[in-house]
Amino acid sequence: MPQEITAGSHVWVEDQELAWVDGVVTSVNGNEAEVETINGNQVTTKLSKLYPKDMEAPDTGVDDMTKLSYLHEPAVLHNLATRYGIKEIYTYCGNILIAINPFQALSHLYDTELMDSYKGAQLGDRSPHVFAITDVAYRAMNNEGKSNSILVSGESGAGKTETTKMIMRYLAYLGGHAAAEARTVERKVLESNPVLEAFGNAKTVRNNNSSRFGKFVEIQFDGRGQISGAAIRTYLLEKSRVCQISEPERNYHCFYLLCAAPPKEIEKYKLGDPKSFHYLNQSSCYELVGVDDSHDYLATKKAMDIVGISVEEQDAIFRIVAAILHLGNIAFALEGEDSSVLEDEKAKFHLQVAAELLMCDLEALETALCKRNMVTPEEVIKRSLDPLGAAISRDGLAKTIYARLFDWLVKKINVSIGQDPDSKCLIGVLDIYGFESFKTSRSYAFTALLDDGPYSALELGPCVVKCTSLKGYEELLLFEANTKCLAEIGFEQFCINFTNEKLQQHFNQHVFKMEQSVYQEEEIDWSYIDFVDNQDVLDLIEKKPGGIISLLDETCMFPKSTHETFAQKLYQTFKDHKRFVKPKLARTEFTIVHYAGEVQYQCDQFLDKNKDYIVPEHQELLSTSKCSFIASLFPSLNAETPKSGKFSSIGSRFKLQLQQLMDILNSTEPHYIRCIKPNSDLRPEIFENVSVLQQLRSGVSILGIASQYHNYLFVNLNGKRKTYAYFILDLKDAVWLSSAYEVIAFIFSVEENVACKSIMEKVGLSNYQVIQELSFSILFL
Ligand code: ATP
Ligand code: MG
Repeated sequence: MPQEITAGSHVWVEDQELAWVDGVVTSVNGNEAEVETINGNQVTTKLSKLYPKDMEAPDTGVDDMTKLSYLHEPAVLHNLATRYGIKEIYTYCGNILIAINPFQALSHLYDTELMDSYKGAQLGDRSPHVFAITDVAYRAMNNEGKSNSILVSGESGAGKTETTKMIMRYLAYLGGHAAAEARTVERKVLESNPVLEAFGNAKTVRNNNSSRFGKFVEIQFDGRGQISGAAIRTYLLEKSRVCQISEPERNYHCFYLLCAAPPKEIEKYKLGDPKSFHYLNQSSCYELVGVDDSHDYLATKKAMDIVGISVEEQDAIFRIVAAILHLGNIAFALEGEDSSVLEDEKAKFHLQVAAELLMCDLEALETALCKRNMVTPEEVIKRSLDPLGAAISRDGLAKTIYARLFDWLVKKINVSIGQDPDSKCLIGVLDIYGFESFKTSRSYAFTALLDDGPYSALELGPCVVKCTSLKGYEELLLFEANTKCLAEIGFEQFCINFTNEKLQQHFNQHVFKMEQSVYQEEEIDWSYIDFVDNQDVLDLIEKKPGGIISLLDETCMFPKSTHETFAQKLYQTFKDHKRFVKPKLARTEFTIVHYAGEVQYQCDQFLDKNKDYIVPEHQELLSTSKCSFIASLFPSLNAETPKSGKFSSIGSRFKLQLQQLMDILNSTEPHYIRCIKPNSDLRPEIFENVSVLQQLRSGVSILGIASQYHNYLFVNLNGKRKTYAYFILDLKDAVWLSSAYEVIAFIFSVEENVACKSIMEKVGLSNYQVIQELSFSILFL
């Protein structure tokens, strides 16, 4: 049993800056204690807010959190920080692996010798490692003949993609072929990474190599455990980045790589300094520290060779990339009242080069940009667009071309690697964006809000932002919640959060199944345990008919709809839905109560963004390009486009893609890796407690907080290390519970809870242990 806290006890006490700081109790007065912290402060606080410090904990920490004597939040945080300090970036939490981004190359951690040592080792026999988790998945697949999956989660910059690459490398090592000539499949699988990163990754505020798409790699194995094929699925590429970037971010890497290509290519594509291109010079960031774009250009081409992209195809691909840059430089000026013409000679030059590179007619390109066909019953009239309309048309064309190019690359890689139709087992690896909330998305918007910028803005708390000017001057700014910054949260975030709801449900179901079997083993009565999950929020989003996506599609099909009519429809339909809130005074916003918190969406762009629409004039122009590669990206209208009057819905297509992903995941045995970003400066050896804690608290999987809107709190209780039990408490009167501590405080304010007491008796736990175990499981489940 833990000792009572008295004068002289070593404890953890809350601290604004450090989250938790250790100290010694100097005196206890009733419910209050005086603590002298190691940073020299005297703190008076409630006894219930103090947590005992384990003075016998090893200096190097423990490699599995379940070995800690105290399983409370400060102990967990301290353990991770201690290990990170000695470059131990991996720690287990039961069978979940926590990986803290080292932000420095730790080559000894990934060499072949180390791979050898993990091969066949039981989990826990060797230090925690991504190889160990992968080895477990591979062995389970071989021994049980069942597919496995590894789900990598974490916020932007936490290390998901790097971790995914390690998993793929280790799988290639385990399931690779001995003979060099047979190794092409695994080589192609590995080399698909640099190709997709060149076209789908970019520098953002949060990560210099941020994936702007989601990815699920399915590696197929034959009966002998050798890699026999693979399939890569990608989700939701961020198209807007092609035309619009803000300080201090960059566009997709491929644009900068091409501008750094050897002189012959530069001449061929009529390129030059990236600063001269509108799609790149909206931000003053062109180079990345430690990255040599000219080297990466050649490396990307080499990788393209390996994945089977021919030299001719590579030429067409880079011609398109260059054409997009030239397109972006076609500026328009007003002519007459509302028509547009090319702004100047420079614009004419870029139009000409773009037409040459796209191998289409110059005049036809100009017309497609500046005019629209109006179809009347009698005739087709060409209507002029004003300069803004023409610029929107140009950007639309650039985005469509880029998106189709990206899809082509993925398809090509898949065809080239090849699928094994006879494969019975696969290991799927998921690297997908995390939940986007009010907190994380706003920093972008803040950048735009600060007129005397350029600044980079970093969110520190719900309403506090650290702004750094280019000169390095730092300022803390306070913002009120609900300012215009919310405008950022739109359709893409809606889709991302929908994905995370789906993953959360998958996780809930998996854990529940696991727990049920433990109950049965330990003969605990679980008949009164009602399984609750986030099905209602999923229904709200995806139910057909009647869910948000369905209503959006209906709205898009109705010609007179606006985002306002869409919002009204939502307000009407969901006025009594527990997961839907109409914010006060809102006209076009709505809030969804997600498992990880409330998110307010702005539906201004929902209709436009849901329509997978290509301007018919653009389609016609490119489908008749003399370059067969480009023409093939735009197959003739009749074959591919839906019947007139109908439109193709991005939301519905995404929903389908997601369902397919879930179907695969549901047929596999999942493993979880949770990546953590130790600091927002992307620097090694800095462990920021507050930020780490925030990530631990708001992962994919906070079951307790997740389901409170069902009137129940569903908390996993890891008592006695092996025994699991669920507490199901009636939370009808609960208000929003934002932290583990509030949850615990709440639980103990629920009087005479029979279910709670009876479980505690059954598993033989005291209240004190429950507090500790609860805070622990809420953090990590
Ligand atoms: P996003 O969601 O933005 O795509 P992410 O979670 O995929 O982010 P990564 O791109 O994997 O993040 O990692 C960001 C950077 O952190 C990498 O470019 C690399 O510099 C560093 N990094 C991540 N993991 C490791 C590692 N294991 N060893 C060394 N450096 C790492
Ligand atoms: Mg990534």
